[in-house]
Amino acid sequence: MDQLTRKAYAKINLGLDALKKRADGYHELAMVMQTVDICDELTFAVKETPGIELYVEWSKDGWTEPPDDFLNAGEAQPVPSDRKNLVWRAAELLMNEFGIKKGVKITLKKRIPVAAGMAGGSSDCAATLHGINELFELGLNLHELQVRGVKLGADVPYCLLGGTALAEGIGEILTPLSPMPECHLVVAKPAVSVSTPFVFKQLRVNELEAHPDIAGMCAAIGENNLDGVIDRLGNVLETAAIPHFPVVGDLKEEFKRLGADGVLMSGSGPTVFAIFKSEKQAWAAADKVKKTGLAAQIFVTKPV
Ligand code: ATP
Repeated sequence: MDQLTRKAYAKINLGLDALKKRADGYHELAMVMQTVDICDELTFAVKETPGIELYVEWSKDGWTEPPDDFLNAGEAQPVPSDRKNLVWRAAELLMNEFGIKKGVKITLKKRIPVAAGMAGGSSDCAATLHGINELFELGLNLHELQVRGVKLGADVPYCLLGGTALAEGIGEILTPLSPMPECHLVVAKPAVSVSTPFVFKQLRVNELEAHPDIAGMCAAIGENNLDGVIDRLGNVLETAAIPHFPVVGDLKEEFKRLGADGVLMSGSGPTVFAIFKSEKQAWAAADKVKKTGLAAQIFVTKPV
């Protein structure tokens, strides 16, 4: 095989709880992860000369109505095309370990909002581990890829798996769950970029007044009970992010006003997702949110 293409899906967190801060500085987490149908696309091509070449392109496909000046206005975070990109590091890790003499040319078509709490970089990283494994026929299984992936990021093992899953530890202890009940999602990213380490630094885990019911959420998913899922949406990182990025709270309020069945910040934010039972209502809400200017990128999508 000389070339292959892989999709890298974004994720949302239906539940995100922090249990304690560990001695190594990481937080002990319990998260319900769900991939959504918003994806980057990566193409891997073998080249005869050694080394990695990476090209990053932006694609606005799938955005409900991309503002024309979005990329020029500098709202889209720059994505590195060198070793700083997790794609590069994933390819390098496997190619060094297996002593691959040939090189690889990778094209990354970016759609997933950046620094958004949607694991875009981790998902690209996971797609690259899968892609390089296949392209050079390395024969690594999922677990073997996950062992390598966690060195590059805590969300990478989940992104290698995808779908609906409970993630514990720092995110690397995974329990697959049955698929999330069917629904429509509006995913909205405000025009601010949020650094995950910054939000975790603001989190006061010992002062949290409430914790989301992660076990109940897993049970509701197992029973295909959408109302049960909606009742248990919760993300403790909202307490850390919203005081610094009030637009997240404003966006949540707007979705509630527009009749969303449930609404939550994803990951460390600032992306907010709203759950709708009615597709028509989801599109209508996306349209109205667009007009408020609270979001720079809006998608109407589904769990995948
Ligand atoms: P998470 O939900 O895992 O915290 P995120 O959505 O907050 O992820 P990313 O979009 O993954 O954040 O990117 C955060 C930073 O990582 C970016 O500012 C960018 O400079 C860098 N980065 C490295 N590789 C990538 C990549 N493939 N795609 C996007 N950003 C990348």
